[in-house]
Amino acid sequence: MKYISTRGGIDPVSFKDAVMMGLATDGGLLLPSEYPLFPRDVIESWRGLSYQEVAFNIISPFADDIPPSDLKRLIDRSYASFNHPEITPVVKKDGVHILELFHGPTLAFKDVALQLLGNIFEYLLKERGEKMNIVGATSGDTGSAAIYGVRGKENINIFILHPHGRTSKIQALQMTTVTDKNVYNIAVNGTFDDCQNIVKTLFGDIAFKQRHSLGAVNSINWARVLAQVVYYFFAWLKVTDNSSKDVVFSVPTGNFGDIFAGYVAKRIGLPIKQLILATNENNILSRMVKNGDYSTGEVVATLSPSMDIQVASNFERYLFHLFDEDSARVNAALEAFSNTGKMSFTREQLQRVHQDFSSCSVSREETISTIADFNKSCGYLLDPHTAVGVRAALDSEISGSELICLATAHPAKFGDAVKLAIGMEPELPLSLKGLDALPSRCVNMNAELAEIRAFVEANAI
Ligand SMILES: *Cc1c(COP(=O)(O)O)cnc(C)c1O
Repeated sequence: MKYISTRGGIDPVSFKDAVMMGLATDGGLLLPSEYPLFPRDVIESWRGLSYQEVAFNIISPFADDIPPSDLKRLIDRSYASFNHPEITPVVKKDGVHILELFHGPTLAFKDVALQLLGNIFEYLLKERGEKMNIVGATSGDTGSAAIYGVRGKENINIFILHPHGRTSKIQALQMTTVTDKNVYNIAVNGTFDDCQNIVKTLFGDIAFKQRHSLGAVNSINWARVLAQVVYYFFAWLKVTDNSSKDVVFSVPTGNFGDIFAGYVAKRIGLPIKQLILATNENNILSRMVKNGDYSTGEVVATLSPSMDIQVASNFERYLFHLFDEDSARVNAALEAFSNTGKMSFTREQLQRVHQDFSSCSVSREETISTIADFNKSCGYLLDPHTAVGVRAALDSEISGSELICLATAHPAKFGDAVKLAIGMEPELPLSLKGLDALPSRCVNMNAELAEIRAFVEANAI
């Protein structure tokens, strides 16, 4: 399988090269040049398979330059760190299915992709005799999932900047209590934007980037999207009993990575009737799906902080398909957007959007009341991100299909929001209990580029 860029500026590359490249060298995002199609009877024959077996079946045609036995091993190793035998179990509550994606080491769905990406990186670096220094900024969740993805791995060091005192206490502890030699936590005296600007500047310094083989783990890496396609299939296999049944997925959306994986699942043959794109008040994507209004606003802070995003990087992947794989049109639309803050769509394009997506933007009050109501009616606690998706699903007018809501984080990670809804914080699961008693490793630095750059330089592998 070959991968091409949404912006049309690179020669096709293999899966391995696509993973190592991350962002395409022309600034675009990588996508397969064509998709495989799994016939219904083949998907049907997967009933009863383990998560790892389904993962292998789906990932293999996309990663055809990794020998099958190696790929199997990478998948098995990645999901051995999950604390549930089904990896992503589905539970039925109040008429909807909840797809629990939070049984990985950091209790958020990003583990599903980052555990695999960490192992693939280690495998490819070893094969190529190369090293990598991952540098990233986090406002909370991605950082810990990335750290857990590569902790203790050979030929990789990771440097994660987080704004000192501005993440939740649990989020900071989840990162700083990882004391493996290859993990460097940097608590920056500043905001998340300060952290991100420093990281962007480091990546923008091409000589520095090349000298230290800087790598990124943000959701633009194709391997992350691919890993997420798997649980759409797994969930469909769990909630249907024959291949004539289609389902609806409700997806709490920020950077459009998770829901794009659902779109890929549909494209390669999974019977999905509709993908509900659920946003919080940061609703540019929701407005786009509803009426083609793709125009930026200010990012507002909500109870679901991992979805506080306006311009979603993975949306470019969908645009490429919506524009019939025509890079010139993608480039023109992106340029118009950067000049005017707007992008427009034809009626025909919107009709095509509606064949796959519907959307709903959920307010702070609705998020709180959904957590409260759900807890009252069935004793199940939703985290605020999941609650956005559940609310969107309950409000949708789609009928006749099973509704599956993606649960993207464990409620204990967002205790403050849960407390607003039910008056108390959820009980901490074992893996979060006693974190503050563990040894930790973190350096505190000012938001000074030179200082942080020197630290990365001194500790790079
Ligand atoms: C990252 C994240 C999301 C949003 O996923 P995208 O792929 O960015 O759309 C939703 N919920 C949680 C808990 C997250 O960490």
